[in-house]
Amino acid sequence: MTRLWNEPADFADEMIDGFVAANARSVRRVTGGVVRSTVVPEGQVAVVVGGGSGHYPAFGGLVGQGLAHGAAMGNLFASPSTQQVYAIAKTVDRGAGVFLSYGNYAGDVLNFDAAQDRLNAEGIRTQTVTVTDDVASASLAEKHKRRGIAGDLTVFRTAAAAAEAGYDLDEVTRVAALANERTRSFGVAFTGCTLPGAPAPLFTVPAGRMAIGLGIHGEPGIDETDIPTADGLAELLVDRLLAEIPDGVDVAGARVVPILNGLGALKYEEMFVVYRRIAQLLEAAGLVLVDPHVGEYCTSFDMAGTSLTLFWLDDELERLWETPVDAPAYRRGSVVPAAQADVVEVAAETDTEITPGDAASQGVAQTVRQALQVLVDTVDTHVDELGRIDAIAGDGDHGIGMQRGSHAALDAGIRAVDAGAGAQTALARAADAWSDRAGGTSGALWGVILRAVAARLGDAGRPDAAAVAAGVDAAVRGVQSYGKAEVGDKTMVDALVPFTTTLTDAVDGGATLVAAWTTAADAATRAAAATADLLPKMGRARTHGEHAVGTPDPGATSFALIVTALGELLADTSNDKDNS
Ligand code: ADP
Ligand code: MG
Repeated sequence: MTRLWNEPADFADEMIDGFVAANARSVRRVTGGVVRSTVVPEGQVAVVVGGGSGHYPAFGGLVGQGLAHGAAMGNLFASPSTQQVYAIAKTVDRGAGVFLSYGNYAGDVLNFDAAQDRLNAEGIRTQTVTVTDDVASASLAEKHKRRGIAGDLTVFRTAAAAAEAGYDLDEVTRVAALANERTRSFGVAFTGCTLPGAPAPLFTVPAGRMAIGLGIHGEPGIDETDIPTADGLAELLVDRLLAEIPDGVDVAGARVVPILNGLGALKYEEMFVVYRRIAQLLEAAGLVLVDPHVGEYCTSFDMAGTSLTLFWLDDELERLWETPVDAPAYRRGSVVPAAQADVVEVAAETDTEITPGDAASQGVAQTVRQALQVLVDTVDTHVDELGRIDAIAGDGDHGIGMQRGSHAALDAGIRAVDAGAGAQTALARAADAWSDRAGGTSGALWGVILRAVAARLGDAGRPDAAAVAAGVDAAVRGVQSYGKAEVGDKTMVDALVPFTTTLTDAVDGGATLVAAWTTAADAATRAAAATADLLPKMGRARTHGEHAVGTPDPGATSFALIVTALGELLADTSNDKDNS
């Protein structure tokens, strides 16, 4: 039960304000999250972590000397946006490149990857290691699909210590990947968590029972049993982790850091009782315990549960692990305090000046503005229906997410058009605003779609039908490359692919843009309706797949509605032109 909030929608924002007010010695708030308040020397690799809020001390509490340089902090249990990650990375970059690390969740991967591509395109070398320590979340053969939980700490700390020791970006990445490979966790929970203002927990565990292997956002577990004794729980956790020793480790005499992590509402005293037995069991197995941790390192709001992490050291990892840290929620050894820095915040791109387009492109920008208005109207009309179909197997936020995104896009588009932007700049600004404000997977993907189309419109002259078709084609490839969904996975890709192939074929066959768009929109509408028969394989809906059969995919549905309405706008504007 979460008891205290003002407006639930403001909770994450107000939480970050309070956290920074209480820790000004270590962190400053900037666009996108928090960064160290202390001086970082030029030429040091910048370590950027992040994720949704609600997991304190992950992620803001792990920013400080010896640990991360910055954290992108999303809304409650929601990935930070691409813009947030990008802004934090730009702020902390010291000319030696940026290292990104975060728990392996679809929304985070999408947004951090998009930020990484942007940073690399700007010449800021950026690399990533996603944390995949949770052994319950996928088999060893599919280790890359595993989620990240308390193992975040070992990977972040190793990377940060390496950066501080002067490793270059490739070396930081190498050692962080090694730390991730040698970090395995397994967890249990006794209760679910309740988000501020929510009427009920995200999930429940029956009284007297314990869910085994479930995720920190309520992702389903692999099993459920009666709650064991403290010693029984210790045995369960240790047995599971000793059944999976990382490659290259010789168990006899192996040095490991055990981390017993509380998920938010478990008492330290209970954890100490459990840890007592864990230590006995690990020592009996021939391990040497190094620097044990019992406490809260990655929580899930008020969830009562715990996880055990084993970090299997080698000489280099142990050397890096022993370096001092002074972060708001994590202190080890004694750190020589660095001077306070003047943080130079990177202005969000939306605040930078617009270079005007030529007259023809400013004309096209007016059409872009009308198109954004049509998008807003379409989403507003269907917001409840989109929420309803998302609630059947997803989290019910597709309507409001699309509404937040499209309204922010229209506002940004209008500001750009009023400042004289050409079509490309106007739509690119709209794209950034959309993905920054919408939240959710679809928000990030709509940002990708609009940015790809924008790139083909240019800021000079009028794009022809082939340029628009090429933009749509690039958009679909972008969505698939970030989201990794194929046709048939029951996502928006099921509507996007028939839309773009029909559009391209028609344009290649000599059709006008209006005629081509209309047939393509019809194809998207039929394909979106046909997703009702499919089982979801991607996104949040995947875990509740069977409920979704009979209901079309929300993202495919909204896409079809939008392109249909845009077809009507295109027909109207071309009629006007023919009549004038
Ligand atoms: P979230 O799933 O984060 O709550 P939304 O509810 O706004 O985001 O959007 C859900 C829609 O996003 C799904 O209906 C689906 O069309 C789309 N989606 C989810 N994951 C993917 C993916 N990997 N690739 C393409 N589309 C996806
Ligand atoms: Mg949703």
